[in-house]
Amino acid sequence: MLSNTVSSDHMTIEVLCPICKKYVTAVVPRLSESEIKSVAFNHGDHVLVLEYDFEGNIRSIYAMKINKMPVGKEITCPRCGMKVNIPETESQYEELAYVHDDHVLIVYLFNKDTYITDVIDLAPGVEVLGRKNIISQLIDILGSKNLANVLFLAFFDQKSIIPVPKEALYLTRKLLVDLGELNMLRVQEGEISELPKLELPYIESLLFSVKNLPEREAIQKLSLGIKLALKLTAYVIKFNESGHKELADEILSMIQDTFLKSFIKDLVKIYEKEWKSV
Ligand SMILES: [Zn+2]
Ligand SMILES: [Zn+2]
Repeated sequence: MLSNTVSSDHMTIEVLCPICKKYVTAVVPRLSESEIKSVAFNHGDHVLVLEYDFEGNIRSIYAMKINKMPVGKEITCPRCGMKVNIPETESQYEELAYVHDDHVLIVYLFNKDTYITDVIDLAPGVEVLGRKNIISQLIDILGSKNLANVLFLAFFDQKSIIPVPKEALYLTRKLLVDLGELNMLRVQEGEISELPKLELPYIESLLFSVKNLPEREAIQKLSLGIKLALKLTAYVIKFNESGHKELADEILSMIQDTFLKSFIKDLVKIYEKEWKSV
């Protein structure tokens, strides 16, 4: 369970699917007092079922695989009359889901002759299911290497204009503002090929570690990762300049993340060279 909000006649419920680990945002009808309802989400090869109450609290979350095997004993969906097959299982207990038009038939199979069924409404507001966070959406449009370059220009190379294709303009500006870069005019429509081709495994690994998180959490974590690199780099440069190379080396030796360590070494080189050339 992640969070939930309540508005006048609908509730937004946010959950993490236990099978595919996708972040799901559902707009579900508000219930009358003391009512509890289950809704299902179709995740392709499995369904996610969540039970919520009138206050928007999640009572339970579970997921089960969708049965597409057309073999076994035939039974009838009590809601729509469609015939489905249940496998002749040897196992003690199985849960199977069948997605019909606007509902999911769930069969709790105890053995091939003993089963009970349940019918659960598919959640409305399908368009928001499995919503990707802004980072994941931008990776889809730009690719992770280019997005890492965009972030590098935004936070580690303060001077430059950041070229992004038109279709990524709005999302890029929004992401940078969310991350604390307030000069949106730095992001200009342009060819992605104008981006410097840097290898940025630290930023890319940060992007991958947050792309499936809820948006707010993803932004926070990405922001922390950027600030950490900036702060450590500033310390290393400060100690180098004041003649305390051993302290700079000590900071570098304490960094466990090898991507972060080489990123900071690169940044120190770039910044020291820039300052000497001024
Ligand atoms: Zn799922
Ligand atoms: Zn049915």
